[in-house]
Amino acid sequence: MFMYPIFITDDPAARVEIPSLPGQCRWGVERLEDFIGPLVQKGLRSVILFGVPLKCEKDARGTPADDPQGPVILAIKKLRALFPTLFVATDVCLCEYTSHGHCGVLHEDGTINANPSAERIAEVALAYAQAGAHCVAPSDMMDGRIKAIKRKLIDAGLGNKCLLMSYSAKFASGLYGPFRCSPPIYSFPRCS
Ligand SMILES: [Zn+2]
Repeated sequence: MFMYPIFITDDPAARVEIPSLPGQCRWGVERLEDFIGPLVQKGLRSVILFGVPLKCEKDARGTPADDPQGPVILAIKKLRALFPTLFVATDVCLCEYTSHGHCGVLHEDGTINANPSAERIAEVALAYAQAGAHCVAPSDMMDGRIKAIKRKLIDAGLGNKCLLMSYSAKFASGLYGPFRCSPPIYSFPRCS
């Protein structure tokens, strides 16, 4: 049942330690074979990918989130090709890709605009599913995004091929500690 969170960054050769997660690294796509291969040999069956873009140009709608050349989509394709039995899930999140740092599209006054936010999150989820993800996992708490994602998957013929897992409950867990903002920001839906 173990699902290993993998942090994928946009330097293909990266292997950079993450100080808040001792022993864990941000990985580049070209490093995945050597890193994941031995773990699959030991019995690892599932991973969940988190994009950590460091070089992309962020904008108000989080355009880089579903860039076909972005690290998450490249990693999905790479892992599927290398390890056919590995279950590949992806975090679905706009926070790291938006210029304002929130997990959605904003009104002019800075509050969340819910409908276009759910639509944008669904677009990103569909791109990950089309790249080969077995599971898309939105971690925000945007009203209506599960419906929007499911609709997109069904309309694309992937409704019964890609699982949809909402896991915002992680916010209540001590395991989420390393991701927490300091101080926490509660005024907007935000998941990292
Ligand atoms: Zn987010």
